[in-house]
Amino acid sequence: MKTVIVGGVAGGMSAATRLRRLDEAAEIIVFERGPYVSYANCGLPYYVGGVIRDRSSLLLQTPQSLASRFRLDVRTSHEVRAIDAAARTVTVLDLASGDTFVEGYDELILAVGATAREAAAGSDIPTHTLRTVEDVDAIGSLVDAAADNPCALVVGGGFIGLEAVDNLVRRGIHITLIQRGPHILSPLDPEMVVPIEAHLRSHGVDVRTSVTVDTVQARTVLLDDGITLRPDFIVDASGVTPSVDLTRSAGLTLGTTGGIAVDARNRTSDEHIYAVGDGVEKVDALSGGRALVTMAGLANRHGRSVADVIAGRDERNTPALGTAIVKVFDRVAAIVGWSERQLVSAGRAHRMIHTHPSSHATYYPGAQSMSMKLLVDPDTDAILGAQIVGGEGVDKRIDVIAVAMAGGISASGLARLELAYAPQFGSAKDPINQLGYVADNLRTGTTRAIQWHELEAALDDGATLIDVRTAAEYAAGSIPGAINIPVDALRDRVGELPDGPLVVHCQVGQRGHTAARILAQHGRDVANLDGGYRTWAAGCVTQRPVALAYS
Ligand code: FAD
Repeated sequence: MKTVIVGGVAGGMSAATRLRRLDEAAEIIVFERGPYVSYANCGLPYYVGGVIRDRSSLLLQTPQSLASRFRLDVRTSHEVRAIDAAARTVTVLDLASGDTFVEGYDELILAVGATAREAAAGSDIPTHTLRTVEDVDAIGSLVDAAADNPCALVVGGGFIGLEAVDNLVRRGIHITLIQRGPHILSPLDPEMVVPIEAHLRSHGVDVRTSVTVDTVQARTVLLDDGITLRPDFIVDASGVTPSVDLTRSAGLTLGTTGGIAVDARNRTSDEHIYAVGDGVEKVDALSGGRALVTMAGLANRHGRSVADVIAGRDERNTPALGTAIVKVFDRVAAIVGWSERQLVSAGRAHRMIHTHPSSHATYYPGAQSMSMKLLVDPDTDAILGAQIVGGEGVDKRIDVIAVAMAGGISASGLARLELAYAPQFGSAKDPINQLGYVADNLRTGTTRAIQWHELEAALDDGATLIDVRTAAEYAAGSIPGAINIPVDALRDRVGELPDGPLVVHCQVGQRGHTAARILAQHGRDVANLDGGYRTWAAGCVTQRPVALAYS
């Protein structure tokens, strides 16, 4: 059995090494267009920033090491130019010699990844994507050669764009970051991203949203809002599209997303050709529909599972939840599942929960605040998605929610999870448990919540807003029209409240919940402002450019 693999990084090498472990007799050839194989592309930005100092540590394997350990025939600088599915052959160009040859296969795996979009094509300013070892070598040289007060333009405020910003700032480069959409990190919802944008600005990054490159000429970038910039160089992280040229020319079916269409075994429309990784459309775990999810974990796992299939095992790929995380300076943003924006545009019913817990018990030094958002199916209590922004502990919580989603644990069920606790690591009621408590209160009708963007309409309809924080908190910043009655005084002052519906709020939602329970038990029609003042303030920043302080 001879398996040819096209692409020798995440998906391709996972497939190759797993196949060898399953089948010692298999002939396995890997063609990789670039000069390196199995390198740590996720670590590349940190080499630019000097966090990873040893370049060779990025190069996890060589054709020689893969030959000795796995008896793989890995050929770098070899580009597969065509597939003849009927003859079961590929045409390969040896980029070093310029020779072309034909190689036969029994099974073919395409792990060709994605192709970077070019927002600044034709630029006369040095411009690089950040995808390969060659890219970081080139960017590193530009950084090293930069003059006094060096500045760069980063195009795209996605995960890789933010990692580029973080690492270039570390090297003393002044950065303008532009993002085509209304906010950076477009998979997250706007009110969750506001603190990250503020954090970038506090590090001197010039963040510009709803703008893109119009033209680059005479070493000047003209943005489509009329602003001109003169960066020393440009890092183009404006996104990727699946690499499908080879697939299309071979007559294989592409999906509606533009990625290579595969079945649950990662088989393409040809029974002897499989495809994995960024080039392939995935099954969305929530909708069962197709989606492009370009993450390393999926590429590696699907590479492994396709090897199982080729080795004769009854293995199927796992649908994608889109779990992702990024760190910029000392802030972390993470997501799993669908965002509110996606749910709204799909017309899917959902309930939202915002909380702002601490990473660990506040009496133990070093606790950091985080903001969490949970999206829940109001009919089934299923978790539809989550977003977390903060510092320490974000990674742990997003993974717990990802596991809960994969395991079918409901939102209320988060309350019952027994999670490891000591004061350095969490709270006896972990932030995950707290999300579950809120979900359970909403599910059972113990509390009614109102979202930050629903508040104005509720007040217009005659509701009275009660701010149950302390007088000092109220004085430091309040929602227009709110009456301040601290929660501890509320029972004694219930008689002062006007008739009609009430909305209560505190800083993050917890005291508001207590206030709502007090008032409900006094027979009042009351809703708690979900996520409190902090979520409202973040949400308002996304709607109008007012400077609101975050604590
Ligand atoms: P790749 O790993 O991109 O490999 C495809 C390979 O195919 C390439 O080396 C290419 O040269 C080769 N190729 C293409 N066409 C041909 C051809 N015709 N002939 C021969 N070879 C060919 N994901 C995360 O989950 N977490 C992260 O932190 C993260 N950080 C990232 C940081 C950076 C800078 C980058 C670029 C990506 C990051 N990713 C991250 C995404 C992750 O790296 C990809 O999802 C993953 O590498 C996709 O695997 P793949 O096998 O589909 O493609």
